[in-house]
Amino acid sequence: MARILIVEDEAKIARFVELELKHEGNEVVKAADGRIGLDMALEQDFDLILLDVMLPQLNGLEVLRRLRQRKDTPVIMLTARDAVMDKVSGLDAGADDYITKPFAIEELLARIRVALKKHGGTLQAATNRMEINGVILDEDRHEVTVNGEPVELTHREFELLYVLMKNKNIVMDREKLMNTVCGYDYVGETNIIDVYVRYIRTKIDDRFGLKLITTVRGVGYVIREN
Ligand code: CA
Repeated sequence: MARILIVEDEAKIARFVELELKHEGNEVVKAADGRIGLDMALEQDFDLILLDVMLPQLNGLEVLRRLRQRKDTPVIMLTARDAVMDKVSGLDAGADDYITKPFAIEELLARIRVALKKHGGTLQAATNRMEINGVILDEDRHEVTVNGEPVELTHREFELLYVLMKNKNIVMDREKLMNTVCGYDYVGETNIIDVYVRYIRTKIDDRFGLKLITTVRGVGYVIREN
């Protein structure tokens, strides 16, 4: 889900795009002229802005130029057909992409997805952060928290939890877990995984009253999302 600002003075287009974006589960805010759009874009945080070029009060290119002095919110420009100069100027002024009117909604939605994905920021960070049943594993920070409380895990415990969370709802057998956590050249007891699982259960399940990792008898382990 993303929070998207539509700056567009043509009410029919704005309404149509708003409905489609909301249908996809996004939060949508609209502005009908450039001045209001710029104020909103500066005062609030959006994941993406759809910005028409031809706008009353302040045109889209000017809105973009002023916005870029302070913020790098992804912007997709809505340009009139064949307005080549608008496209060039828009990209020069810091637009991430543009789409020509009239556009197919599927194309706009596809471009929005690309712009959101490309723009690291919060969304990129979100992909390196997994949450299952209240347990959050942040890959970038190498951090695990439960209900906001940090949990100290050793490197291998962290790796094991990572693999199980990454493969949630998939039963992972001991050998696969051992190869991933300890490396393929690991020579040692296969019950090492059982040992790590026990440690993780002590640190997470016992402490927070959870049942995070489920034992699948004779096979291995799985983390099931509740
Ligand atoms: Ca317009």
